[in-house]
Amino acid sequence: MQKHRMLIGGQWVESGNGEFFESLNPFTGKPWALVPRGTIDDVNQAVGAARSALKAPSWAELSATDRGALLRRFGDLLAKRADELAEIESRDNGKLINEMSAQLHYMPQWFHYFGGLADKIEGRVLPIDRPGMFNFTFEEPLGVVAAITPWNSPLMLGAWKLAPALAAGNTFVWKPSEHSSVSALEFGKLFAEAGFPPGVVNIVTGFGNEIGDTLVGHPDVAKVAFTGGDLTGQHVYATAAKHIKPVTMELGGKSANIVFADANFDNAVKGVVSGIFAATGQTCVAGSRALIQRSILDEFVEKFVAFASTARMGDPLDTATQVGPITTQPQYAKVLDYIEIAKAEGARCVLGGKAATRPECGDGWFIEPTVFTDVTPSMRIAQEEVFGPVLAVIPFEDEDEAIEIANGTQYGLAAGVWTSDINRCLNMAKRLESGTVWINTYRVSSFISPFGGYKRSGFGRESGLSAIREYLQEKSVWIDTSGATANPFVTR
Ligand code: NAD
Repeated sequence: MQKHRMLIGGQWVESGNGEFFESLNPFTGKPWALVPRGTIDDVNQAVGAARSALKAPSWAELSATDRGALLRRFGDLLAKRADELAEIESRDNGKLINEMSAQLHYMPQWFHYFGGLADKIEGRVLPIDRPGMFNFTFEEPLGVVAAITPWNSPLMLGAWKLAPALAAGNTFVWKPSEHSSVSALEFGKLFAEAGFPPGVVNIVTGFGNEIGDTLVGHPDVAKVAFTGGDLTGQHVYATAAKHIKPVTMELGGKSANIVFADANFDNAVKGVVSGIFAATGQTCVAGSRALIQRSILDEFVEKFVAFASTARMGDPLDTATQVGPITTQPQYAKVLDYIEIAKAEGARCVLGGKAATRPECGDGWFIEPTVFTDVTPSMRIAQEEVFGPVLAVIPFEDEDEAIEIANGTQYGLAAGVWTSDINRCLNMAKRLESGTVWINTYRVSSFISPFGGYKRSGFGRESGLSAIREYLQEKSVWIDTSGATANPFVTR
């Protein structure tokens, strides 16, 4: 079994107490790698290393242009190792090799884009209203950034934080999910190769409940960038609040994929499938509610079920596989629980609704693609994030009702709209309470476009120009140009 080390201050180290934990392959259910079980002392050392790197001339005095060049070089190295890293991710979290490979081959763009942005962060000279005063601003890094990420897209969600944080001149401590840490550790090797000074990026592995609080609450961590479930998010937010630290929160969702009768029918069927069964529903933007206009409901469900029932399940490393396993055993149990809850609430299961025991599923944690109809908007299956291949179909009459149902959850991460009416496209885009709206498409993202939640799906934005602002603070500088001595007893 492979044995890995963590990255602290440019050194590859075991955990302070020499303990490891097993990383499981969701397709076989068996351990395949050993990962250091980081301790509180390891976290303190990693933050210390990041703090020292922040002050060291090799990083603090590097020009923004040179910082950008490092990021772009890193992107080039990443491109060369994309296939290898994708394979590690697929083995570690059970997501399809096709999906992880597409993510990895696209990921260098974040490092090229934010590398390009590094020397375009400009301050302002303000047309100040105070006579005899000159006022300008500049932007400064926050300091040490701590990133905490989930298991479903380990490197992508790390890259979304790393690229803007480093471009802005911060240093970084990353704790990936205990369920999928291996790719982050391999990826970490590229920082030294690209020429980053030691300690600028540190990677500590381990369990959130053992080292998470220390990392989030550490007095030398200036900001926390978190992606994960909303209960963990609440905890992280509360810990950060005690220290008055800024956070970004990328949390869960219950996204609606809304199909109007005037939509291109076949595209909409494929779009709803891609929203829920791609990535086995283990994506924050899963379109886990299909809102279907009542006039096409029966035809849609029939075609949808026929199409979804042909999905090939099996080894995620096989490029022909379309639906892979659930990443973790507890998540597998949680999805099966939700299926029972939906049945008990009176929803009608028209596809799947059970664990998959097909021979091609081996010993993995597989669940049949599942579709429920007769779902009402207040049912738990329509309100709570399942994070698995389970779709709730809800009918609606018109635009107003679609909006009411779509916006009627506590979440607001993403939504899909399928229609051929341009006015409806714009109306729906305006009225949907969600950070992303996809029209006649689903699950597309780019380094150029901001991504983040409304409502309980979180706050702060990743990707695009807005993302770099999450890692900067603005300083206002006043210079008295009048030469006159002010009355010291009166505020100027
Ligand atoms: P999780 O909340 O269980 O874990 C996320 C991370 O938090 C892990 O690294 C974990 O170790 C860490 N953690 C746990 N307890 C902690 C603590 N007390 N202090 C600090 N860190 C702690 O989430 P998960 O099960 O790994 O991932 C699934 C969730 O992530 C889903 O809810 C999904 O919607 C969400 N997600 C959101 C986005 C987004 O961009 N909005 C993207 C992907 C996943």
